[in-house]
Amino acid sequence: MAETTVCENCKFWNETGGTDEGLVGECRRNSPSPKTLDGAPDSIIRFAAWPAVGQNQWCGDYEKRPMETKEVLERVAAIEKMEAARKAKKAS
Ligand code: SF4
Repeated sequence: MAETTVCENCKFWNETGGTDEGLVGECRRNSPSPKTLDGAPDSIIRFAAWPAVGQNQWCGDYEKRPMETKEVLERVAAIEKMEAARKAKKAS
């Protein structure tokens, strides 16, 4: 199965929730950027945040996320199953 190079599969993706349009997350490729938000009169709220990205967005900094243990075990099990089937076919 070909991997799609979108944010959801990127090592910098940090899932934070979902909407009717799909999953949303933060891009943690770089450190958070300073942001401001207008609060009450004469006050500005200052904070830092990572860019919000949707699961199907992408950029040129994409890097494949390393496989998690479960994915590795599933692939090993699939390979062992194929090998057992090959040996059984050869023996018959
Ligand atoms: S914006 Fe780029 S670096 Fe960030 S999560 Fe998406 S593909 Fe990865």
